[in-house]
Amino acid sequence: MMLKKRPDIDRVRGCLYGQAVGDALGLGSEFMTKEEVKACYPDGLRYYDQIVQDYHRRRWPRGAWTDDTDMMLCILTAFSDGAFDLRQVAQNFKDWAADEPLGIGSHTSKVLWMSDYVDDPEKCAKLWWDLSRQQSAANGALMRTSVVGLAPVDVEAQAAAICRLTHYDPRCVGSCVILSLMIHHLVWYDRELSFGEIRDIARRYDERIVEWIDLALEAEEISALQLDESTSIGYTLKALAAALWCYRHAESFEAGLLAVVNEGGDADTNAAIACALLGAKFSYSSIPSYYIDHLHDRRIFDHHADHFITLLSAE
Ligand SMILES: [Mg+2]
Repeated sequence: MMLKKRPDIDRVRGCLYGQAVGDALGLGSEFMTKEEVKACYPDGLRYYDQIVQDYHRRRWPRGAWTDDTDMMLCILTAFSDGAFDLRQVAQNFKDWAADEPLGIGSHTSKVLWMSDYVDDPEKCAKLWWDLSRQQSAANGALMRTSVVGLAPVDVEAQAAAICRLTHYDPRCVGSCVILSLMIHHLVWYDRELSFGEIRDIARRYDERIVEWIDLALEAEEISALQLDESTSIGYTLKALAAALWCYRHAESFEAGLLAVVNEGGDADTNAAIACALLGAKFSYSSIPSYYIDHLHDRRIFDHHADHFITLLSAE
């Protein structure tokens, strides 16, 4: 008799909490240049309590996650019978946007605000992509995709479909599939995808992804990615590269977290993505307890994570 495959729950938890922790600490340097990060945090940004209370940041309590993790939870709560219910995900996105959340991305809000969004989300996503002359390739789908990698089966198809609920560009779809499959292999097969395998996935979607994979592999310092460079802030391949850099070069969860947040740029999103992957790689037990214990609304997060893990374990 074949034994049924089981997910590694320590890695599942690491992925979920890693996302929230990266998001919450990354808010501390979101939209700053690296120079501004150094000026605000001379000894480095390390703790939620340090987060400066300027006009942008004081809208959130210290230790709170932002839109990245809100949207991840919209996906997580649509999990039933072993898969994510696409229509429910779209409905959850719509309901979330109706509450006028803080920090919602401009591309995402344009798509979600269309009146027929829930009935045909992909059409709405494609319309706004076409209106951008097929240039818009923001990180708004990648920032929420980590949980899709935890599903037992059909991860590639689900990651692509959930991405296209708002982001139609093949660079967005490819980056969501790559991150989700990397997490899936860690959690379900205890296996790290190689950079060769990651390139092969990328080529199925868009050749432009490959140069960012190579940059992440070859850069000795994360600063080579220029995460704070203003014209490409929010680009999906830049955020993917930050996560891949951490996957290849960071020696621990905390080392990766601190490397990303101290670069500035779209730091909450970059760290949410990178730390979901690092949490799956190094496991929940590797995340320093401070970051979990001081998450704002930690009980709410525990409730969602525990419920999801119960459903996953019952599969
Ligand atoms: Mg955010």
